[in-house]
Amino acid sequence: MLAIPRPLRLTLYILLILAGAALAAGLAMRHAERQAQVDDAARANQQLVLYANSLHTLIERYRTLPAVLALDPELRAALDGPVSADQQDALNRKLERINGAAQSSTLELLDHTGLAVAASNWRLPSSYVGHNYGFRPYFSQTRSQGAGRFYAVGVTSGIPGYFLSSAVTADNGEFLGAMVVKLEFPELEREWRQGSDTLLVSDSRGIVFIANQPGWRYRLLGALSETDRAELKATRQYDKQPLTPLDHQPIRHFDGNSYLAHVDGPDGAADYLWESLPLSAEGWTLHLLRRPQVAFEDLRNAGLAAAGVWLTLVFLLLFLSQRWRLAKLRQRSREELERLVEERTRDLRTAQDGLVQSAKLAALGQMSAALAHEINQPLTAQRMQLATLRLLLDHGRVDDAYKALRPVDEMLTRMAALTGHLKTFARKSPSGLRERLDLAAVVDQSLQLLDARLRDEQIDCVLHLSRPAWVRGDAIRLEQVLINLLRNALDAMRDKPLKRLAIRLEADEQLWRLTVADSGGGIAPQDLPNVFDPFFTTKPVGDGLGLGLAVSFAIVHELGGRLNADNQGDGAVFTLTLPIDLEAHIQC
Ligand code: ADP
Repeated sequence: MLAIPRPLRLTLYILLILAGAALAAGLAMRHAERQAQVDDAARANQQLVLYANSLHTLIERYRTLPAVLALDPELRAALDGPVSADQQDALNRKLERINGAAQSSTLELLDHTGLAVAASNWRLPSSYVGHNYGFRPYFSQTRSQGAGRFYAVGVTSGIPGYFLSSAVTADNGEFLGAMVVKLEFPELEREWRQGSDTLLVSDSRGIVFIANQPGWRYRLLGALSETDRAELKATRQYDKQPLTPLDHQPIRHFDGNSYLAHVDGPDGAADYLWESLPLSAEGWTLHLLRRPQVAFEDLRNAGLAAAGVWLTLVFLLLFLSQRWRLAKLRQRSREELERLVEERTRDLRTAQDGLVQSAKLAALGQMSAALAHEINQPLTAQRMQLATLRLLLDHGRVDDAYKALRPVDEMLTRMAALTGHLKTFARKSPSGLRERLDLAAVVDQSLQLLDARLRDEQIDCVLHLSRPAWVRGDAIRLEQVLINLLRNALDAMRDKPLKRLAIRLEADEQLWRLTVADSGGGIAPQDLPNVFDPFFTTKPVGDGLGLGLAVSFAIVHELGGRLNADNQGDGAVFTLTLPIDLEAHIQC
């Protein structure tokens, strides 16, 4: 991997965090903008329903008017036969009056061919009277269905409006003509113009015919088919109006009738929230177009909040990873420490084993001298006894010869025991051996090994041994400890007139307590804390290595016991304690 310098890495991290914050802020702002648009769309939709209601109410107000007028006997009578000029004038004035009272745009009466026989606008140059409207769909609808409705641009007046018509029939049901009311919506458009929204009403073909803003009327919201165009031409619905398409591309849909669109409108291209509401009664659709307005503060707040959350998360993550790394580091150093301790312990144990071994060898050297001395004496004695034996046998004194053999036998047994000990002593015993053994027997064996010296130096031995004293340990190593203690005691008493060695072995609660006390003058108080230190010795060079007690101390500790030194009376006393082997104790 490419190594990146630390300062550069830090800068990279900071840049990454900042980029993350910017990204979070951007996403949040986008989301807030979308949410605001959705809310705005919902609000616009509610308003659209209100606008639809006002349009619906307006149309409903006039829906029954032609039906009511169609029942007028005067109008019915007029259509029954040819209309005279006077009759027509009376009818014109009547319709004019009713139109004024009803506040509709125009009222007209068509005969069964669609010819306008009377109209409320008879005074105007754009009067309908005398024109035939049989081609208008509302007329054919009225003839076939009894009523009709149609939005169209007036072919005579050029003013667009909604034509509602009702059939005028004779008593026998014969179709006589149609009563037509025309509604225009300038009032409505003016009213709708007060808001900032653009409101459009399109017919079933998607042609906008009502708009509250100039330039939006007679625009096509979709493509027209050939049949559509043909029909439009035949009915002259929008007469000579050029129907230009209104370019609009949906950007995002909120639901079926609600979306965000890019519109190339008469006021220039812009994005609009576009809400539509179908007016089923008329087959029209009401549209509300609104420029999306998102408060900058809301966006900024959303962005800041998201950046804040992002930074908090990043810092939390950094904090946690730091803690995790620290914990790992601590764990690693603890493991390292444990490994070191283990290594040192192993080294120490090896060193200790080495020390034990070298101390043994040193003792062995000393003991070999003692043994040579010890064995020489019996060997000389045996040679003499063998000579005696030969003499006795020569003289046929077999019984006496047998008697003379016994001391030889004893001496040989003793010598074998001595050499046996020497062999086991020199052997390096596996550390950690835990056999069940009698501590009293270990004392016996140690005394036996030093027997020659004890006798030579005329030591007064006092023994108080509880037996069996079961412990768990390594007999050879414990013997080594005992021999060390005894040899030190003998060394200390070498020049003393009173040579008294007291060995005591007794149980003390869970322990066996073995004390070795001498009359050798004791240990100087300033030396007491040091006697167990390796290479501490007060003996002349060549006599002592200063290892005996150090090794003994280690051996006893390893077996779970304790070794103490103190002064008592006219000498030193060494106390060795070892746990009682309960299993063995119970067996006994
Ligand atoms: P070494 O016998 O080779 O000197 P040890 O470790 O056995 O080494 O003994 C250390 C020292 O402890 C001896 O030099 C001696 O000064 C002192 N010491 C040990 N046992 C006795 C004792 N029974 N009486 C007096 N001093 C003792």
